[in-house]
Amino acid sequence: MELDSLYQEVILDHYRNPHHKGLSAKSDIQVKHNNPSCGDEVTLNLNLSDGLVTDISWDGVGCSISMASVSVMSDLLIGKNIKDANKILQNFTELMQSKGQGSGDESILEDAVAFAGVSKFPARIKCALLGWMAFKDASTQLLA
Ligand code: ZN
Repeated sequence: MELDSLYQEVILDHYRNPHHKGLSAKSDIQVKHNNPSCGDEVTLNLNLSDGLVTDISWDGVGCSISMASVSVMSDLLIGKNIKDANKILQNFTELMQSKGQGSGDESILEDAVAFAGVSKFPARIKCALLGWMAFKDASTQLLA
């Protein structure tokens, strides 16, 4: 798999020094998601307050793409209101479905545009989306 080297660096950096890794003691909800085709596992804690994503913390094992993606996602979504968080989630999902055609809107996705090249590799898309799907599941359950 070849990704643009700058993007590869962003991914490896988050993989080596993951942000918000280590589960918080208290959370409004905890979900576990896995990606059996690659062996990736993520446990995600989410706190929401007054429609605001006040905290995301996580733990997991898996490939560099899955772990880096949940790290980047946590950075992006903490502090956002749920409407903006869902917009970012939607934007990232569309990027992953772009089959290598999309480059991502950096004003919305920030570091997450680094995963644009992953959309060319169908087997890895689930890796990149794992943490995001965990967030979607957790927030949907909390707001139900
Ligand atoms: Zn993976």
